[in-house]
Amino acid sequence: MTVMPRPSILSVEPYVGGESKIPGVNRIVKLSSNEGAFGPPPAAIAAIEAMARDAHRYPDGGAKALREAIGARFGLDPARIVVGNGSDELISLLILAYGGEGTELVMSAHGFMMYDITGRWAGCRIIKVPERNLTADIDGMLAAVGPRTRLVFLANPNNPTGSILPQSEVERLRAGLRDDILLVLDSAYAEYVTRPDYDAGAKLVDASGTTIGGRAVGTTVMTRTFSKIFGLGGMRLGWCYAPAPVVDVLSRVRGPFNVNAAAMAAGIAALGETGWMQCAIEHNTLWRGRVVAALEAAGIKVWPSEGNFVLADFGTPAKAKAADDALKARGLIVRAMGGYGLPQCLRITIGTAEECTMVTEALTAFMHG
Ligand code: PMP
Repeated sequence: MTVMPRPSILSVEPYVGGESKIPGVNRIVKLSSNEGAFGPPPAAIAAIEAMARDAHRYPDGGAKALREAIGARFGLDPARIVVGNGSDELISLLILAYGGEGTELVMSAHGFMMYDITGRWAGCRIIKVPERNLTADIDGMLAAVGPRTRLVFLANPNNPTGSILPQSEVERLRAGLRDDILLVLDSAYAEYVTRPDYDAGAKLVDASGTTIGGRAVGTTVMTRTFSKIFGLGGMRLGWCYAPAPVVDVLSRVRGPFNVNAAAMAAGIAALGETGWMQCAIEHNTLWRGRVVAALEAAGIKVWPSEGNFVLADFGTPAKAKAADDALKARGLIVRAMGGYGLPQCLRITIGTAEECTMVTEALTAFMHG
């Protein structure tokens, strides 16, 4: 007799990620996981080191100091912030709490893959809605909602497409959803956005439970991360801003010490590094533009991106594979997109100036070769 998990679990492929080695290549440049370009902020490194002395102590299960620091930085009520072991954990907890067997989860076709993976863990039926120009189609998403839909996910900007929706479109999505549907706005890349018509989600979270134009507005949650602009991917630290009833639900389903003490100390220190952060943002804007220009000049189509990465489209899976091989031969690791259903594309994280130059030069040589 074999012990079997619930059937939906076996529909999920084991996660293989964070590839950082190429056999026979000594110097690796890793541009495959949308990590911050400059390592952790200096104050965060010091905080992690200092924390080591107290590593025998359990962390503060209420994460009070971190929630207060996040609240102060973003102008939000700390009581409405929940922290997680990466925003991935918060996404999982929301799906486990509000989804499950017999429910549906709606997302865009090339939305962030953890919604699909965790949704299947929970036994939800996943509805993937075709996009327009790799951008979430609000009308399509609203049309896909059915009586069993309990969760709608929107990454804004989206990974891996880099696409973004203006606040007016996000509001139209919320306004078109029944109020028993939880809308999760995943704003992992919010800090990189340069478009002025963008809101990371707090406005809609605050509108939850009110009426707009005589219509009841349902519940919205915003998720954020320390893994990108804050340079702390390895610490696994994310947070969400949610209406009080969702905070209550999350406090029932999360583990008592779901965020470790080193991550909390690093997060608080990173929040204080405002000058460092500003430089990182300006670097991203400058080099994202330069990478796009260089790739386009080399004859590669690049999808517009508001994140810390770009999606390069080689037209065919074979050409993308050849480009990936050419990059690997030079020690450059980017993300192949077959798992996302975009096998003709490679996703390239914006790294340091030197790393960006290496990748654009390698791809220019590939296109001319
Ligand atoms: N949302 C999006 C859109 C992402 O791209 C990522 C990271 N790849 C996450 C959430 C998860 O981030 P983390 O768990 O590191 O906070």
